[in-house]
Amino acid sequence: MSGDTELHSTFHGIGVSAGTAVGPLVVVTPPPKPPADEPATTDADAAAATVHGVLEDVAKGLEERAAVANDHARPILEAGVMMARDPGLAAGIDTQLQAGKGPATAVTDAVEEICAMFTALGGYMAERVTDLRDVRDRAVARLLGQPEPGVPSLSVPSILAAHDLAPAETATLTTETCLGIITEAGGPTSHTAILASQLGIPAVVQAAGILKVPFGTTVAIDGGVGEITVNPTDQEVALLEERKRRRAAALAGGTGNGATKDGYPVALLANIGTAADAHKAAAQAVEGVGLFRTEFLFLDRDTMPTLEEQTATYTEVFTAFGDRRIVVRTLDAGADKPLKFADLGPEENPALGRRGIRLGMIRTDVLDTQLEALAAAYRATRADVRVMAPMIATQAEAMWFADRVRGLGLPKVGIMIEVPAAAIRSKGILYHVDFASLGTNDLSQYTMAADRMQGELAPLLDPWEPALLDVVALACEGGQLMGKPIGVCGEAGGDPALALVLAGLGVSSLSMAPGKVPAVRTALGLHTLTQCQQMAAAARAGTNATDAKTAVLAMADPVLRDLV
Ligand code: PEP
Ligand code: MG
Repeated sequence: MSGDTELHSTFHGIGVSAGTAVGPLVVVTPPPKPPADEPATTDADAAAATVHGVLEDVAKGLEERAAVANDHARPILEAGVMMARDPGLAAGIDTQLQAGKGPATAVTDAVEEICAMFTALGGYMAERVTDLRDVRDRAVARLLGQPEPGVPSLSVPSILAAHDLAPAETATLTTETCLGIITEAGGPTSHTAILASQLGIPAVVQAAGILKVPFGTTVAIDGGVGEITVNPTDQEVALLEERKRRRAAALAGGTGNGATKDGYPVALLANIGTAADAHKAAAQAVEGVGLFRTEFLFLDRDTMPTLEEQTATYTEVFTAFGDRRIVVRTLDAGADKPLKFADLGPEENPALGRRGIRLGMIRTDVLDTQLEALAAAYRATRADVRVMAPMIATQAEAMWFADRVRGLGLPKVGIMIEVPAAAIRSKGILYHVDFASLGTNDLSQYTMAADRMQGELAPLLDPWEPALLDVVALACEGGQLMGKPIGVCGEAGGDPALALVLAGLGVSSLSMAPGKVPAVRTALGLHTLTQCQQMAAAARAGTNATDAKTAVLAMADPVLRDLV
């Protein structure tokens, strides 16, 4: 950062979702704490009336947001409304007030008592604790005259700044009111980054100091290069507009299938997470879906969705794509994508624990229900459905999964290569399945031993890292030996310059947030396969990620610079 945050200044972070925007900054407020020296309550009845009024205001606020929320966010908000109006909560608070506690302390202590009770009851009740604490934070903030914590309801189109955003919080945002996202934490493969590009909202992560910029200040964001300008000058806004225009011109290059300049096909596919994503993506020029992250459908569900509900959702998604391919990933629960109904309890190292297929092999009830629903949706639509498993590490896992999928009559089965063991031994693993898809987000975290959730490790997780490219190359060699296709569905596939390297390494499809497809299509069309292979060799010869990228940009058509 340079200069005074009140005046003109520039921040740099990591651009994770391309696009530009200018607008007022809205900061996501952290939860308040009741002051340690809060004055005691002397008139319990008057204090109770105030607190009950505040709880009703909290309920109404949540109700208003639920009315306009999407399917992900609505149930979370409605649960909060019920909690805020719960007579048991009001009675608990009254007891604390009668004991002389100040209103904010009374709310906090009453909520903690109920939380302890809910936790002891376990199951569904224990899961209500998060909702209840959210209501507490909102009520305490109001009692202290502070703004409610969390993502505020954005009445004016704004740029949102936060330390970090939970997936469920990001899911409440819409492109109409959220012009951009800036976080202090998070990395390029964090789920904030993935959901932002899924929604087509420009985003920058790792923007240290952004929370010091006052609420309402005008900021300009460039989610491609990762630059944020506070109080931009007219000239800077004009430059941003110029970049936007040049980018639009470079992207005006058609809607056809992905291919290099000399016609080597590289299918351009969409990453989706919900039925709404599917409808949006299906309306765009994509050749199908390369990754349907099914766990995104159920992030905030307490109980397993039924066979019927899942069948209906998958049928809707398959129908949306007609005869275009749809690669569905079975639930990748655990670690960064916890699902309440498929939780095996706390672990020391969740990313190295029972996640993905490991969890599916324990909770066969969850996996089989999903596979049966996918098979039913396939029978109903006869779509080009390809089902793959997350986090495969061994041949035995691949074989186990392939048997189950084929046993249900599903036509094609594949696996994700996101564990280095699977990349190194891809030939043996591919023997059992029809295709593989490289999950470069996890492959990067496991190759570099760097937690993708830990933003300060982001430099190690740069997908240009030559070690990652070497591991990708190994996986592709196995694919070529077996004559089976390997695609990429991690965030690396949506970087137009890196896409050239991946094509040069031999991948036959790239799957990404649909908004990224036009830039990748243009980049491929500007270069021959031989050029892509030369760029791949140059990138692998680099000593680090920056070297690798610089070498590729120096070899590429100059128009590529407007695309990244
Ligand atoms: C990946 O790991 O690259 C991937 C595509 O899966 P996710 O990001 O959902 O873990
Ligand atoms: Mg993954």
